[in-house]
Amino acid sequence: MRRVAEIAASHADAVDKEGRFPTETIEALKRERLLGVAIPVEHGGEGLGTMRIADLIVQLGQACGSSAMIYAMHQIKTSSFVTHGGASDWHRAYMRRIADEQLLMASATTEAGIGGNLRNSICAVEVAGGRFTLTKEATVISYGNYADAILATARRAPDAASSDQVMVVIPADGDRTLERTSVWDTLGMRGTCSDGFHLVATGDARQIFPKPFSEIAAQSMLASSHIFWAATWFGIAADAFNRAQAFVKAAARKQPDAMPPGALRLAEAAALLQEMKGHLTAAIHRFEAAAGDDDALSSIGFAAEINALKVAASEKAGAVVRLAMLVNGILGYKNGTPFSVGRHLRDVTSAPVMISNDRILSNTATLMLMSRFDTGLGS
Ligand SMILES: Cc1cc2nc3c(=O)[nH]c(=O)nc-3n(C[C@H](O)[C@H](O)[C@H](O)COP(=O)(O)OP(=O)(O)OC[C@H]3O[C@@H](n4cnc5c(N)ncnc54)[C@H](O)[C@@H]3O)c2cc1C
Repeated sequence: MRRVAEIAASHADAVDKEGRFPTETIEALKRERLLGVAIPVEHGGEGLGTMRIADLIVQLGQACGSSAMIYAMHQIKTSSFVTHGGASDWHRAYMRRIADEQLLMASATTEAGIGGNLRNSICAVEVAGGRFTLTKEATVISYGNYADAILATARRAPDAASSDQVMVVIPADGDRTLERTSVWDTLGMRGTCSDGFHLVATGDARQIFPKPFSEIAAQSMLASSHIFWAATWFGIAADAFNRAQAFVKAAARKQPDAMPPGALRLAEAAALLQEMKGHLTAAIHRFEAAAGDDDALSSIGFAAEINALKVAASEKAGAVVRLAMLVNGILGYKNGTPFSVGRHLRDVTSAPVMISNDRILSNTATLMLMSRFDTGLGS
């Protein structure tokens, strides 16, 4: 990943400025065979666990926020195959393709009229004669035009309830059309190229995951999303912190007898970064310990904890970058200096709206009515 991160860092400003897909990073990830690392060894991958993958994301996040978010989203989608695809011939065979051909996976949960409420769909798959058809107004699909497959959520059938959902794999080399309906011209995360699309697909009904999406979301997707997003934001915040630390060290070298004025803010940022790291690693340990235990993964306590990670990491990443900006002053505010943190600030601004923190807090509020806070430290 070190070699990939160097390439990503050298193109990060151009990717951001031009709002273009980080082609060089993704090609390097494929070259280094980093897209199949989570796939189990028996299906052709390396079988890396959540901690190792989160660490790779953190490294990439320090180089280019958009590249790290793309890699994180790919890993979130891959985790659905790993956790829920083992019992299906079609998904097992596709896992081998991801590893062998280094395929890039994308996600279409967001839908016109639904927003970030991913546990509801308007669109529905129609299954007949072993084939499915699906039409979805997918208002945000990151790198939709560049992905080798899109994993889309939909209602199980046209007469199913909005929360009775499935997830289906839609390969780019299958029978599908993607018509762009909106362009991703945003404040930050500009390289994720998260355009809107009118998606029409048909294919083998076995491409639909056998497990209901409610279980996929509860047992793997929610946790891996919040963990891998938090790893991305932690990486971005860490790079902004490093730039602020370099600024303070340079000031200290110029005036060895005086504490640079930014040093106090730097210490404050270090404490926040440490909190982010502690929260992230605790969540990963909890997730890894619960692996395979569907009851633990579906528990109220686990859902509340993993929701808290997303909200806290998204807010703290912004706070760290804002502190770095204060430390670096005008050299942080300007683009193109070794201390610039403008791109970092714009990229982490997406964090609280990437599934709105208010929506997540309101889900946790419901859980809190049914549970007690676990004060045990695990001794
Ligand atoms: C960088 C980035 C990449 C993304 N990539 C993808 C992708 O690849 N695929 C994909 O499907 N989606 C993607 N998304 C979209 C994301 O998953 C969410 O669907 C999207 O951020 C929700 O947008 P919205 O503001 O329309 O949310 P909505 O959920 O519609 O919320 C709008 C506003 O309403 C308020 N609100 C809504 N519900 C509640 C509630 N229950 N309680 C309190 N307030 C509420 C909040 O203030 C919120 O800001 C991406 C988003 C970002 C930022």
